Amino acid sequence: MSLLVGDIGELVTNDPELGVLTDAAVVVEGDRIAWVGAMRDAPAADERLDAGGAAVIPGFVDSHAHLVFAGDRAGEFAARMNGEPYTGGGIRTTVAATRAANDDTLRAGARRLVGEARRQGTTTIEIKSGYGLSVEDEARCLRIARELSDETTFLGAHVVPAEFAGDPDGYVRLVCGQMLAAAAPYAKWIDVFCDRGAFDGDQAREILTAGAAAGLIPRLHANQLGPGPGVRLAVELGAASADHCTHLSDADVDALAGSPTVATLLPGAEFSTRSPYPDARRLLDAGVTVALATDCNPGSSYTSSMAFCLALAVREMRMTPAEALWAATAGGARALRRDDIGVLRPGARADLAVLDAPSYLHLAYRPGVPLVTTVLHNGVPQ
Ligand SMILES: [Zn+2]
Repeated sequence: MSLLVGDIGELVTNDPELGVLTDAAVVVEGDRIAWVGAMRDAPAADERLDAGGAAVIPGFVDSHAHLVFAGDRAGEFAARMNGEPYTGGGIRTTVAATRAANDDTLRAGARRLVGEARRQGTTTIEIKSGYGLSVEDEARCLRIARELSDETTFLGAHVVPAEFAGDPDGYVRLVCGQMLAAAAPYAKWIDVFCDRGAFDGDQAREILTAGAAAGLIPRLHANQLGPGPGVRLAVELGAASADHCTHLSDADVDALAGSPTVATLLPGAEFSTRSPYPDARRLLDAGVTVALATDCNPGSSYTSSMAFCLALAVREMRMTPAEALWAATAGGARALRRDDIGVLRPGARADLAVLDAPSYLHLAYRPGVPLVTTVLHNGVPQ
């Protein structure tokens, strides 16, 4: 079965040779893109989807999200907007609710968020554990995540749970041992929240090294709440991505610039905690590969909207609309070490979004407006 997506007013491909095309078409065969080019040259196909002159972009790649949890923390958000600082301590509230929830409740909540993201143009979403923090609860959260995404991340080292408050090193041993063994069958990645109030550089190194030995690939929550060793550790260990990157030294920027580690910026977190945004321009000007993601979670960034994060990146972080769209699609793909998504070229996955707008510029220009009208995921209209 082939599908012609035709009459595309503006097609952003993210392919360096194809660039941005006008009056374009895309032909899909099964779950892959078979052809990209000018509408007048388009080959025949079994079915046709008419874009009516609108813009088409690669599906968003949200490379950082925490979707398996129970409850919400709207009250904490309201208190924060009323002046209370964000410390990360509220994570334990969600841990308690998640442990008390059954599998069906957790599955329904995660599925709802994946659907919400999909309708807004996200065709790949990474899902972390991190609200179970026991051997059994981390394993079941990842089992549920794996039902919804291939990009699953073991984040047993999110915070030290209350029952280990007096023995954080004992918790690190549990994460590196029994918990990792139970989580690894359902995870591709391993992640640590390396920041004040969470895990220090030595603990993060121990956990990521154990994860790598179990076949998981490191990524890291780094330098969100303050300066620290996270970013340099991510580069040293060859992590796919260092996420947040809000408080960076010159040495951190240099380390990222000379490495394949992607800097994943999560402006929804700064928005929702009323914190200073990361300096995207400094990273881009240094030659660092930048991704944008939502950090969707009930505490510090409860948004599933990549378009909202893109608008923040343009307005608050001085990324150009083109840089922001690339970071939210191809950049996310780099952060997940994927070359089959985030790009529209023959052979890539047929993951794309049709916008109710003549240009992708409208994503930042019309913030908060649901511009995505049609999503193709693996070639299937959603
Ligand atoms: Zn996060």
